[in-house]
Amino acid sequence: MSYPLPRYTPSGRFNPLTLALFLGGIAAGAVVAWPYQLLLRVIPIIQLNFLLVAGFGAALAAAGYYAVRTGHCRNRVVALGLALVLAGVPLAASYYWEAKHVEDQIGFPTSVSDALAIKRHAGWQIGHGSGSPLKDEAVYFVWGGEALIVLGIVLFGVGSSVASPYCEKCRRWCEPKQFYVAGVGRAQAEPLLAKGELVALALIEPLAQADRSTSLSFTITECPGCHEAVFLTVEEKIVTVKKNKTSEKKKTLIKDVVLAAGQREPALERVNALVGQKLSA
Ligand SMILES: [Zn+2]
Repeated sequence: MSYPLPRYTPSGRFNPLTLALFLGGIAAGAVVAWPYQLLLRVIPIIQLNFLLVAGFGAALAAAGYYAVRTGHCRNRVVALGLALVLAGVPLAASYYWEAKHVEDQIGFPTSVSDALAIKRHAGWQIGHGSGSPLKDEAVYFVWGGEALIVLGIVLFGVGSSVASPYCEKCRRWCEPKQFYVAGVGRAQAEPLLAKGELVALALIEPLAQADRSTSLSFTITECPGCHEAVFLTVEEKIVTVKKNKTSEKKKTLIKDVVLAAGQREPALERVNALVGQKLSA
């Protein structure tokens, strides 16, 4: 369910520093692609290869996150466009390095596309030599899967950093603070949200005989400069224990809703009091 509450939206501004930082990340990624493809080739354990691919994606995503934050990028289209290049160029570089390796092995000059065709036809032996190797068309699936994992991680990382609240007045990123109220959930939050009573929601107290496995998580994201740009995210968390296994389900009720004057103060007072308590305890 969505509520007609004003949400934070990035202003669309960006600054050339973002572009420079992304270019740096892309160049570094193309260099790191060399040890990356070497490790992929020499490690025969598929689970480790998978971790390596995810790690490569995470490192590129971290570079993109840094470029967005340090470059103060509030333009989603620019950030996601640069993220595509940030994932694509290092991936292409890893195939290039792979082709160079094939060329070295056969010992005479070979074009990148011929080298990759040779690689495709050789494929990989999975397991202990039993069964046919993974080759030809199957190789496209492996490369496709690798590209999707890296691209997915980079787009997610960059997308979430450019969407996080920014104070245009102070030109700085807002900072999140979090508290939980156990014993209340969606059932108590939804009527308040429907009426737009954000103060009552931020000040909600646990019910007397409540089921404490359900809780509401509040994230108040605030400009540390002016304290006037303040946003509220509320999630419901349900913890279930099954066969000694604890699992947690999260549902976002509202995300980065703008708190107006009059709503900000009580919400900030509560989060600051609770954070203070935790520190002194
Ligand atoms: Zn500010």
